[in-house]
Amino acid sequence: MKIQEAEDRLWKRIWICKKCKSKQRADGAKIRAKKVICRKCGCKDFRPKHKERKAQG
Ligand SMILES: [Zn+2]
Repeated sequence: MKIQEAEDRLWKRIWICKKCKSKQRADGAKIRAKKVICRKCGCKDFRPKHKERKAQG
């Protein structure tokens, strides 16, 4: 069973364009590969909508 795949689907991967802050739904892999382009401004930089737990600093 591919549980991870199901989880990925549940976790709608929503990304926010860093430039114009419009929402975009895409795979994380595509975002990392810069294959996703913002429809509004054409920017390729996105940040995850859901804040990841990262140690800041
Ligand atoms: Zn944009």
